[in-house]
Amino acid sequence: MKKVTKHITILGSTGSIGCSSLSVINSLGEDYKLVSASGHSNWQLLAQQARKYHLPKVVLTDPTHEDKLRNALAGTETQVLIGPQHLVDLAADPASDIVIVAIVGIAALPAVLAATRAGKVIAIANKESLVVAGCLLMPLAQQCHATILPIDSEHSAILQAMHSGSPAEIEKIIITCSGGPFRTASIEQLAQATLADALDHPTWNMGPKITIDSATMMNKALEIIEARWLFDTSPDKIEVLIHPESIIHSLVEFCDGSVIAQMSHPDMRLPIQYALTYPRRLPCPAKRLNLHELGQLHFARPDMARFPAIQLGFEVARRGGSAGAVFNAANEAAVAAFMMEKITFTQITALAEHCLQKQRWIEKPTLQDLLDADRWARLEVQNFIAKPDRSISPKHLPPKTIPQIPPDGPNIITANL
Ligand code: NAD
Ligand code: MG
Repeated sequence: MKKVTKHITILGSTGSIGCSSLSVINSLGEDYKLVSASGHSNWQLLAQQARKYHLPKVVLTDPTHEDKLRNALAGTETQVLIGPQHLVDLAADPASDIVIVAIVGIAALPAVLAATRAGKVIAIANKESLVVAGCLLMPLAQQCHATILPIDSEHSAILQAMHSGSPAEIEKIIITCSGGPFRTASIEQLAQATLADALDHPTWNMGPKITIDSATMMNKALEIIEARWLFDTSPDKIEVLIHPESIIHSLVEFCDGSVIAQMSHPDMRLPIQYALTYPRRLPCPAKRLNLHELGQLHFARPDMARFPAIQLGFEVARRGGSAGAVFNAANEAAVAAFMMEKITFTQITALAEHCLQKQRWIEKPTLQDLLDADRWARLEVQNFIAKPDRSISPKHLPPKTIPQIPPDGPNIITANL
């Protein structure tokens, strides 16, 4: 049988997932070929990748280093495109079959939409675009015959476990969570957490934004919402389980009581490869699991009082509509502010909660509504930071407060900031 080469675009090839994706493409051999890539500001690495893979096209989204990239690629056949608008063309380019979305944050959304409209296979690491626009993306994918496959390790695990039964037979989806660097920290310690503490993840080596998200457990909140859209699942069927070793990446419980878990070493190359070769499996360079060596695995319930983000994730998944856009934007803006040391660690979740409380919720948003909601939440965070008197601080939240959804009405969560 004649082999058909799969042509691949990586959006965000210079990041953690981008580099792991390149390693997977290398090991898969000649059946998988990289044809284009994008980076934001790391022009040196993008130039290196363009030369190594003889790329016909690259996009640099941050124009600051345009001249340096053009000089670095002078004399090669690589076409250099500058600016975020070119991501959309790259995503829909007929030259590629599979688009890996490894960009961080909502900056990926226009490209994800373009790849979806073009009917591509989309290997998606970028959870933010699903959190914000899952309600539009999933129906669009169906309409345009696009296939959206998760790279996020938990969602890859769920997809793999789901093959053991039919969707109607699924009773529960159990998303595991390492617990991050503050798994055992007290509320007082969380209030004092520094940027360096938050960037020190115990089991995964990832980009800075998702590392902070893991420390606040916003990452798990985003993953609950991601799972809700990817698998068209009721949030009431989703549970979160703390599992510090990051060996079981998630589990699916079926109606007969069977629980199917996907296990492997914490190495993103496996879920990336599964998305590229789906539904086939091929040998992967990731280290093999030796349970004998590991000896024990541990599990615990998440503590919603210390990590209220998880509860917020469930609330947003239940509410849907524009809530995901507000939640994600508030978190992105708050994480950026924390990384610039303008707010404290616990203020990240508190700001997301505050924005959810204050938003004008839209049940069936258009794309424009979602973009407006995103802009509004970012402004709300900026206004908070600019306030000279920020005396109402989340540190004053009563320790056991779990925000409740009012039965109706636009303000989905009540809490103090
Ligand atoms: P990273 O910071 O290492 O890389 C981000 C990539 O996005 C880089 O290539 C960068 O150039 C690009 N980028 C940054 N800002 C951009 C902008 N404004 N416009 C266009 N491109 C931009 O991040 P990462 O850890 O690789 O994560 C990427 C995505 O994958 C995130 O959504 C994250 O949640 C998700 N994810 C990551 C991991 C992981 O192990 N790293 C696991 C699961 C999911
Ligand atoms: Mg994950």
